Amino acid sequence: MKVPFYDATREYALYKPEFDKAIGEVISSGGFILGKEVQEFESAMSAYTGAKYAVGVANGSDALLLASDILGFKDGAEILTPVFTFFASASCVSLLGGKPVFCDIDEDTFCMDMNDAAARITKNTKGIIPVHLFLQTADMNTCMQLARDNGLAVIEDAAEAFGMKTLYKNEYRHAGTIADYGIFSFFPTKTLGGYGDGGMIVTDNEELYLKAKSYRVHGATKKYHHDYIGYNSRLDTLQAAILSVKFSHIDNGIAKRAIHAAQYRKLLCNIPQVKLPVVKQGNNEVNYVFCIQAEDRDGLDMYLQENGIGTSIYYPVPLHLQKCFEHLGYKKGDFPAAEKLCGRVLALPMFPELTEDEVSYVCEKIEEFYSK
Ligand SMILES: *Cc1c(COP(=O)(O)O)cnc(C)c1O
Repeated sequence: MKVPFYDATREYALYKPEFDKAIGEVISSGGFILGKEVQEFESAMSAYTGAKYAVGVANGSDALLLASDILGFKDGAEILTPVFTFFASASCVSLLGGKPVFCDIDEDTFCMDMNDAAARITKNTKGIIPVHLFLQTADMNTCMQLARDNGLAVIEDAAEAFGMKTLYKNEYRHAGTIADYGIFSFFPTKTLGGYGDGGMIVTDNEELYLKAKSYRVHGATKKYHHDYIGYNSRLDTLQAAILSVKFSHIDNGIAKRAIHAAQYRKLLCNIPQVKLPVVKQGNNEVNYVFCIQAEDRDGLDMYLQENGIGTSIYYPVPLHLQKCFEHLGYKKGDFPAAEKLCGRVLALPMFPELTEDEVSYVCEKIEEFYSK
């Protein structure tokens, strides 16, 4: 049996007429740049998440970059960000001349350790970029309290967090809708993924909304009238049309992911060498990826691959040990929780169209590896 880590073609086969129609309509209309499908998808995103405003941009990394630029996460400003995340959560600050200040992570949730973050605040700190990783959000109650107490701006990196919810001040809120800005990625493997790159910035603040809308078209507020020095970063109309089709099936997709996760949990819970993900109370998870912690992770990884099972390691190297961040002066041992996790995490196949037999096969092979 072969089990892919991720496979977009199965979903396409399921809903082919809908996708083909949506794509065909964009091409026939010729509205390739900021066509009506972009605005329709933005409205759908804002209705679903509860964010007042949504601005489609070229990808999640750009969403972080535009939001960071607008909020002043640049020019020497110190920005707190977790050390265990995708590169873009920190590079957005570096690209603008700001200074990422790394924080260790909570061993259970893999998200930013807010106590560690609090201890790193200085008079130069301007902002926080909490990242909602894998299946649940960072601790947004503590994060926003830190921000209020210290006059900081906050961007939620919700690139992986479409559909996740968290209890914030006694109310369940969608990931990305709590801070000044939230950003999403529609990279193909994401829970809501396109057939190419795409991203979105959401906010409840009208001024921040208007700025983001202008920054994606070179800082223009009216065509050829530039109030800011912005970017060329728009959500492609074709991707918006494709994403709207995916969006209409997303609750079903999220439910199927939950079924696979429950099956993994059931079949792996008695293997002592495997630690299953822990979901914190007050967090409604979405299984964007299913990451276990495994003893002899590299051995297991190789064994699964030899048996036709696709896997992925998110993330093999924490940000403070990346070559490009050497100048920040961190060293091995500075972030024990993140460093330990980098040697232990392994993501198993997870996408809605996975079958029960495939999940069983993956678990069987994991069991087999440890019983040898
Ligand atoms: C995917 C991802 C991004 C970047 O999104 P792109 O659309 O690939 O640019 C940023 N942050 C995190 C945590 C991500 O997982």
